[in-house]
Formats: sequence, C-alpha cells, structure tokens
Amino acid sequence: MANKGQIGVTTENIFPVIKQFLYSDHEIFLRELVANAVDATQKMKALAASGDYKEELGELKVNIELDEKKKTLKIIDNGIGMTEEEVDKYINQIAFSSAGEFLEKYKDQIGSIIGHFGLGFYSAFMVAKKVTIETLSWKEGAKAVKWTCDGSPSYEMKEIEKADRGTVITLYLDDDAKEYAEKARIDALLQKYCKFMPVPIVFGKEQEWKDGKYVDTDKDKVINSVEPLWTKAPGELKEEDYMDFYRTLFPMNEEPLFYIHLNVDYPFNLTGILYFPKLKDRVAVERNKISLYCNQMFVTDHVDNIVPDFLTLLHGVIDSPDIPLNVSRSYLQSDASVKKISTYITKKVADRLESIFKEQRDQLEGKWDNLKLFIEYGMLSDEKFCERALKFALLKNTDGKYFSFEEYEKAVADKQTDKDKKKVYLYATNVQDQYAFIQAAKDKGYDVLLMDCELDAHYVNLLEQKLTDTRFARVDSDAVDNLIPKEDRVKLEMKEDERYDLENLFKAVMPEGNDYFVTGENLGADAAPILITQNEFMRRYREMSALGGGMNFYGSMPESYNVTVNMENPLVAKIWNAKLSYVKPQDELPAEAPSDASEEEKTKAREAREAVRKAHRADVEAFAKDNEILHQIVDLALLGSGMLKGKALSEFIARSQKVVSDAYLS
Ligand code: ADP
Repeated sequence: MANKGQIGVTTENIFPVIKQFLYSDHEIFLRELVANAVDATQKMKALAASGDYKEELGELKVNIELDEKKKTLKIIDNGIGMTEEEVDKYINQIAFSSAGEFLEKYKDQIGSIIGHFGLGFYSAFMVAKKVTIETLSWKEGAKAVKWTCDGSPSYEMKEIEKADRGTVITLYLDDDAKEYAEKARIDALLQKYCKFMPVPIVFGKEQEWKDGKYVDTDKDKVINSVEPLWTKAPGELKEEDYMDFYRTLFPMNEEPLFYIHLNVDYPFNLTGILYFPKLKDRVAVERNKISLYCNQMFVTDHVDNIVPDFLTLLHGVIDSPDIPLNVSRSYLQSDASVKKISTYITKKVADRLESIFKEQRDQLEGKWDNLKLFIEYGMLSDEKFCERALKFALLKNTDGKYFSFEEYEKAVADKQTDKDKKKVYLYATNVQDQYAFIQAAKDKGYDVLLMDCELDAHYVNLLEQKLTDTRFARVDSDAVDNLIPKEDRVKLEMKEDERYDLENLFKAVMPEGNDYFVTGENLGADAAPILITQNEFMRRYREMSALGGGMNFYGSMPESYNVTVNMENPLVAKIWNAKLSYVKPQDELPAEAPSDASEEEKTKAREAREAVRKAHRADVEAFAKDNEILHQIVDLALLGSGMLKGKALSEFIARSQKVVSDAYLS
C-alpha cells in the first residue's frame, strides 16, 4: 500500500533554501545523519537497560556505506527504527516544520548565524537529489516502511520487507555534490565530526599488506573511539593517558606542559580536557585548538565566544550539551549559561595552576618560562584570573631563581624599601645588554628580576596596581644609588652658571637626535664618571605604545636620557678644571640694564648679555669637542648602555687605539 502526501510546510519549496542556506557548510549533513543514527542506537540501549526491550540487542553500531560508482551514500543503524506513524510525525510533520520555522525566523540574518546548528535530517537535501528512509521499528509487530522524497515537498511512503530492526538512510548524491562520493572525503568528514561519537561507526574494512598491495580484511574498520578520555573519571587516569590523548588530537605538536580535566554536572553539564601548550612568543601562538563537542559530536573549533580570550591559547576539547548552538554569535556571548561555563572554565584553570604551584612546585618552575606568556596574558585580560594568579604566578630573577609574589616581597623588603616605604622591585629585560647595571645592583645587595617576556611592559604596570606599595624600576633607569633612594640625599649644589656649562659640555659630545638631561652628582671617586640612563616611566610608556597601548604621544617624542655626571670622579674633576682654565667664567657678563632704563637700553643690554653667553657656550663646546678624554668617557658610558653604534663606534675604536698608544708609547 503506497501512500503519497505533501510535506507539512508552508514554504513553496524548501529545498533550494536549505541548499543555499549553508552553502559553505554542506558537509555537516553527515554529522547530522550519523548523530541521528547514534541517537537511535543509544535509545535502544536505554530501552534494553530499562527492561522495556527484552530481545537480543545485538552489537549496536552505525555503518556508513559508500558506492562510488552509483554515487549513493548509506547511513545504516540498528537503533530503534520508526513506525509509519513515527515517520509521518517526526519526518513529515515535525522535523520539516521546524526546519521551516527556523528558516522563517532567521531568513534576514542568514550570514550572521553561527554556521553549526542542527538542521537535522533535512540537511541531507543539501547534497542529495533523492533520499530514502527504510526503517523497522523495535516495537513488536511493527511493519517496515520506505519513505522516498526527491527534493520536492512531496514524499511517498510504502510498506516494505526489512529483516533487521533499525534504519537505512540512502542519499542519491546530487551532481553538484559528487565530492561526497569519494571515499577519502567521507573518511575525512568522519574523522572531523565523528571521531569520538559514543557508538562504533564503521566505514569499510581494515586493510592489510598482502602480495605487494593493501587489501581489505574481513574486519570492520571502526573510525571512532567510543569512550574518549574526557568521558572517563579523572581518578582512573594516569599522566601518560593524558599525554597519549594529546598526541592523538595533535600529532604534530610538542608535548604540552600541563593538562586540566574538566568535569561538572551541576548547574550545567560540561566535560573536557584542556592542555597548556608551550608558548614561546605571540607570533607562534596557535589559537582555535579547542574543539567543542556536544555529547561526543564535534560542533566547532571556534570557541572564542564561549571561553575568555586568553583561554583560546589552550588546546583540547570541551563537551557540553548546554551550549546553545543554533544562535548567533552575539547572542552566544550574552547567554547566561555560556557565561557560567566561561566563568567555570576560568576558575578551573586557576584551581589547577594553584594546585600545581602547591604540589608540584619544581614542575611549575621547570615549565614556567613556557607558561609565562599565557599567565601574563590571562592576568592582563581577565580580572578574576588575575586575582587568583597573584597566588601562584612566579617571578624569576636574573640568577634563574623563582619566587612567588609573597616570597619575593619577603626576600627583598629589607634592602629594597625606599625612603617612602615603597618596595622597589628592580628588573632587567636583557641580562647581556644590562649586565653592568645588574652587577652594580647586585653589588649593593639588591636582587634583580628578569622581565624578558614581550608583555612585560604592560605586566609591570599591572603589578604596580595589584601589589600594594610596590614599584618597579629597570636597573638601568638611574644610578644605582638613585634606584632605591634611602633618605633624602643632599643634592650637589651647583650654581646656575656651572649647571649651564656642564649641560653644554656634555651635550656637545653626545649623539644627536635625542634629548638629554644632564646633572652633576657626587657618587664617589671610585664610581664611574658618567651614567646614561633612561627614565623608567618615559621608557615604559614608549614601550607600551610600541606594543599597541595607544599612547602615541609618547611614542612620537624623541628619546630622552638622563646623563648623570659624577663630579667626584677624578677624570671628570680634571676635565672640569681644564674647562675652567680654558673658558673664561660667565661672571664677566655685562650688567643688566637698571630698571628705570629705557626700553631701547634694556634691549641693548639684553642682547649684549646674550652675545656673551653665546660666545661662552661656543667656547665650552669647542673645548668639549677637542677634549679626547671627554669623548672617551662619554663613549664608554654610551657603550655600557648599548647606545654606541655605527660611525660613533668606529670613531671610538680609532680614538681608543690612539689614546692607548699615546699612553704606552710616550
Ligand atoms: P532532531 O534529530 O533534531 O530531532 P531530525 O530532523 O534530525 O531532528 O530528526 C527528527 C526525528 O526523526 C528525530 O528526533 C528522531 O525521532 C527521528 N529520526 C531521525 N533519524 C532517525 C533514525 N536513524 N532512527 C530513528 N529515528 C530517527
């Protein structure tokens, strides 16, 4: 008895819409059909477990059969099957009308809809010109039926003979979907979408090497692992199991640093395993390495709307039936259950790191350099994570020793508290370049941190906000005595004239194009004659604007340096005295015009004074330019700060050779 009818949907012809709807995502039809088949077998299992079904269950599985010549693809299950009424209800009425409703609802925003949602059975029509369902229900006395639909909204249903319980869906592939008639393509799709489905999925036979070629054996080839690691109880698993699983997920990757097993069933359902990969720099960062599953069915590997940004640096899988899939991205971000899930994952990541900190401190230290970028990024971008991380994040000093924040504070508080009761954390960004400064700080008994991560400019700022009464200073940002000022030091008193001379003397021999603030200080006879440093805050703002912090005002200013001249150094003292005898003192300046003088007289007097000052300055500069030793000590200071380059460097080398020869051979 054949039965014809119209599918219950208002849209005149829904198939062209379905086809064009998810143009780029046609391939999901296979996931949808296999998922239905898996559901049907799972339901069978449940019926047997509850005692409603008493017969032999048989081995529950799903078969995929491809006929490359006939261009047909079959999805075969031995699940619950459907009666004629059920086909009518689920396929003709409900499924179709819900697809219709769906399209109606979203027709204005087709482009913006998340590409992955359950269009279900009807997604078959994205690739097939004709689809048949042959099905026999598990129910006693049920008759098998065959449903046929050729892509128009009419179908045909008739009774057939079918021996085995379950459903066979046959797709007659469309001419423009021939790619799905290739074994390799189906293989790849099954690998992508069905690798962890909970029922064995068979596609073809295992092969063996025989007589110089691969031949099929009679053993079914199961493409999936029905109990992936994340579905197991963490207590049953060993470290090695997690590492093995990582290798199956990412065969080409380096070993991860740590893993987290997520497992929660209230107030939402979520399982999964996340791995911390080795992160060396941002350039090498691989995102989109977390796959989202829904009951072991692959959904997407774009979880950026589901987890906080910094967590997208992790690798692994998340499985949750509670993440709404058929909604737009912006909706997803504001969805309450997604927010809860996101908060939960962040918390779990922090919990895990804290327990590693407490129980496997040596491991954390050993892997810290590769983990640091992740933690710093997390702390910078996620307030809650930051609060937690302050308990387990590590600081590393230039000797390679690691400290927690608490430990570090204790270690340095004694020696590195300044006169305003602020703790000063000294840091270097490059041990080689800043060697002399690090050494000077260590000689004073200070500790120097190593902050060589690319986010550290921002990170240091963040830590200053989070750690009370603490500031950071790069070791080369000032003379060591000024880095952590202990008491208000008596400043060296210099007269205005002297300061003017000192400034002109040094500016005359410093590289052009930068700003210099020259000051004289008494740093002791044994200390270096000159120190060139860069103000901590100017440098930091500049670095942050380079990193994209947006402070372009600082970024476009000329570099400015502090030049500290040690007046007690004998070389400086000698040059200074030589200058005094070379340049006549400024107190020979013509007097200022008296206050009751005429405007003309005043201008004249001012110009006369300026002319003398100018001449005086020219004398100082001429003296400086001629003074080989002044050049030499300035260049040595520049060299110590890594600023002596190019022409200046080669001049320095030539001059040094001359100075050495003069001293030794004369
Ligand atoms: P969904 O799976 O989202 O409910 P579908 O359109 O994929 O929507 O399927 C509609 C219904 O048809 C299913 O809920 C199920 O009851 C029935 N169905 C589909 N495929 C099968 C199958 N292989 N075996 C048994 N029932 C099926």
